[in-house]
Amino acid sequence: MTKPTVAIVGRPNVGKSTIFNRIVGERISIVEDVAGVTRDRIYSSADWLAHDFNLIDTGGIQIGDAPFLDQIRSQAEIAIAESDVIIFLTNGREGVTDADEHVAKILYKTKKPVILAVNKVDNPDMREMIYDFYSLGFGDPFPISGSHGLGLGDLLDEVAANFPDVDAEEIEDDVIRFSLIGRPNVGKSSLVNALLGEERVIVSEIAGTTRDAIDTPYVHEGQKYKIIDTAGMRKKGKIYESTEKYSQLRALKAIDRSDVVLIVINGEEGIREQDKRVAGYAEDAGKGVMFVVNKWDIVEKDNKTMNKFIEDIRGNFLFLDYAPIAFVSAKTKQRVNTLFDRIKLVSENHALRIQSSVLNEVVEDAVARNPAPSEKGKRLRIYYATQVAVKPPTFVVFVNEPEIMHFSYERFLQNRLRESFGFEGTPIRLITRARS
Ligand code: GDP
Ligand code: GDP
Repeated sequence: MTKPTVAIVGRPNVGKSTIFNRIVGERISIVEDVAGVTRDRIYSSADWLAHDFNLIDTGGIQIGDAPFLDQIRSQAEIAIAESDVIIFLTNGREGVTDADEHVAKILYKTKKPVILAVNKVDNPDMREMIYDFYSLGFGDPFPISGSHGLGLGDLLDEVAANFPDVDAEEIEDDVIRFSLIGRPNVGKSSLVNALLGEERVIVSEIAGTTRDAIDTPYVHEGQKYKIIDTAGMRKKGKIYESTEKYSQLRALKAIDRSDVVLIVINGEEGIREQDKRVAGYAEDAGKGVMFVVNKWDIVEKDNKTMNKFIEDIRGNFLFLDYAPIAFVSAKTKQRVNTLFDRIKLVSENHALRIQSSVLNEVVEDAVARNPAPSEKGKRLRIYYATQVAVKPPTFVVFVNEPEIMHFSYERFLQNRLRESFGFEGTPIRLITRARS
């Protein structure tokens, strides 16, 4: 379930973002686009042959007006902290520079595998440019060209050969893994405390005390849970830890490791742009999602306030119309108790498997009510449907001509599935295939 993470590190202008985009390719979904995630992306899923992994472009994390060497030091430290394999990128056209040596010195401190790549080797005649780079002390350099897409296969083979073995603990399937995602100060650590019923997580008045990853296992009414990426127990001190990009990276990583994502909103302040970004990512990653409106104790309320807030959420998160909304107070613990049951329900829906016979009855019934579209004299025929995956539930619909299946009809079928099976809190996917 947990994919390895690869980070690209190196001084500015060696080609980090070029390589990042090459490897990630065109993975832009409508949802991500709407939520504005695609602009200056620094984190994305990627794959190479049979390997799935996540990729970080550390060059995208800048620390205000810190001096040049501090910037690249931080980026190398982030690579060490956040990834399993590091690609150390250099520029063959410029040879080894002081800044490369600076990066190398920081990377010497990690036991994680570091693969050295020499970029801008745009044609085979330029290969001898790489010999200089042995002096950095990371073994054989891999010549590549980001702009021409050369050498990436060999580089990624080496990266994949260094992936860690899958952590057995990570694949326990009787544990519900959830994370609390939200802007600083919305009350994430307070909520964790309230859920755990004890002061195990340090809460502070200062914004953003929960950046460090510590997973908290917990059993509630016989069900095992793991709260991903929560506590703020480790001492802070790294300068990059206060940057928004780094917090965003941490949030996206936590989402990837969760079954259910709780998007925590400050009831007093309402919805912000940043909330939409992470929500878009969660939907796109196929995670169960629920909204938790916190600090409800200090919201001035009349009998319309809650409905207005619900409308606001629905209006801002159109693509998450299936996500339940809870109004709580971590401070007074009001309704905090109800969260576990809701998380469990969402998780069950996320892993729900529908019997083929029942599924096909629903699909047939849907087609009977609203005939499938036709185009140029041909009518779409739906032969049968089958569920091919869970987390999230994914259905393949076999038809005569997939091109005639319109987005709106797909949406109609999805809605029928939701009406019949619930699926509260989970995205569902529908794939149309030609019957062979
Ligand atoms: P970053 O600062 O490390 O992220 O570097 P960029 O990806 O922004 O690239 C810096 C410059 O190098 C851009 O002008 C790229 O077009 C160029 N560049 C990247 N890869 C290559 C390459 O393989 N060959 C050549 N000739 N130029 C490249
Ligand atoms: P985080 O940065 O999202 O982890 O937020 P914290 O849990 O550290 O909380 C930030 C501040 O909000 C602290 O001063 C908390 O005491 C306060 N706070 C958290 N939850 C609530 C709540 O439900 N009601 C009120 N009134 N204050 C809260």
